[in-house]
Amino acid sequence: MTHAAIRAAELIQRKRDGVELEADEIAGLVTGYARDEVPDYQMAAFCMAVYFRGLSPAETFALTDAMVGTGRTLDLRGALGRTVVDKHSTGGVGDKTSIAVGPVVAACGVPFGKMSGRGLGHTGGTLDKLEAIPGFRIELTEDEFVAQVRDIGIAIIGQTADLVPADKRLYALRDVTATVDNVSLIAASIMSKKIAAGAAAIELDVKVGDGAFMKTIEDARELAHAMVELGERAGRRVACLLTDMDQPLGRAVGNALEIREAIATLRGEGPPDFGELVLRASAELLSLSDLGVDATEGRRLAERAIADGSALATYERWVEAQGGNPAEDALEQAPVVKTLHATEGGYVGALRALPVGLAALHLGAGRATKDDAIDYAVGIVCSKKRGDAVAEGEALAEIHARTEAQANAAARDVATAYEIQQDPPTPTPIVLESIG
Ligand code: URA
Repeated sequence: MTHAAIRAAELIQRKRDGVELEADEIAGLVTGYARDEVPDYQMAAFCMAVYFRGLSPAETFALTDAMVGTGRTLDLRGALGRTVVDKHSTGGVGDKTSIAVGPVVAACGVPFGKMSGRGLGHTGGTLDKLEAIPGFRIELTEDEFVAQVRDIGIAIIGQTADLVPADKRLYALRDVTATVDNVSLIAASIMSKKIAAGAAAIELDVKVGDGAFMKTIEDARELAHAMVELGERAGRRVACLLTDMDQPLGRAVGNALEIREAIATLRGEGPPDFGELVLRASAELLSLSDLGVDATEGRRLAERAIADGSALATYERWVEAQGGNPAEDALEQAPVVKTLHATEGGYVGALRALPVGLAALHLGAGRATKDDAIDYAVGIVCSKKRGDAVAEGEALAEIHARTEAQANAAARDVATAYEIQQDPPTPTPIVLESIG
């Protein structure tokens, strides 16, 4: 047994008994794990002790900081002499926000640099959506990433392998030991990657609802506060929006379909809820940037960038810089498009995100296991959303599929997501709360 493993046994015991650990003790454990001196079974036991006993804010920061230290870190302020901004969403159904927000803030003169992840299960990932654009390269070197943020004003790339390697291992371990859903561990995992990626200002979007990781506003609030605190302790400017994921965001769910919707939104023609979230998130990011504006002025700048075409032009420059074809008609189209019709009239009382996300996954738009291939063309367009009036026989949704059989199966699943009622439901705003 290594010295680190003997020490780990003692720390597991103390955490199991509810003792608050010192920062250097947590750092020793994480470093030992990263160096293979602490085995998986001890780290799993530690995570389970944390699951039941929790971590204090100081312990959570020590864990985050130690995880950041296991890999390479970027200093984008040092490299560019500017406040580079970044955003992160906890993930949901139809969430293409970064693909529209990045070009909006870049068009307002604020550099946007983001390292992103892939989707798993019913939630899609930004990288998968970007790869629906023919030719788009998500693997840039660190130097290429920095140069593109400087020259074009925006880059979104895959996480480099040496960015928080401890998180990659730890997340896989948590996944198979029932220790994913602990607020401190989630916050440390997300924020270690954001801090290491080097942006000085970070906008967080914690999704709340049946299609999200966080099912209740109370849990979402707790995670938001934990992440904002971690970012601020690390010297970053952080703000967080809690946003609705009881229904899909916007209308499009599926990779190429979502790129089309992001482009439409950059033209000012997006669905109302998605358009509003893009403006709110852009406004928050601009207020965290070095422009010296508040969120009200930030929103005005974001609206202007969409209205004058500069946001769309920035999107096109960005996609070309990463090797992609920005033309909408270059995006793949599914061979089968089937319309789901309403069997009764009334109002859409609910459009549950989870069954829509699962239907898209079964069509091939997502991956059930991390090695599955993705079909970029397929997905769902929800023509009617919560609160919309609908007549019997009217189109509720469009299914974009590879085969007739898959389209029929998805239509049945999407039908279960819709609840039609006789009175309009109470409207729910897309942004539920703003924190930080
Ligand atoms: N996403 C992450 O990156 N880490 C977690 O622990 C949970 C969600």
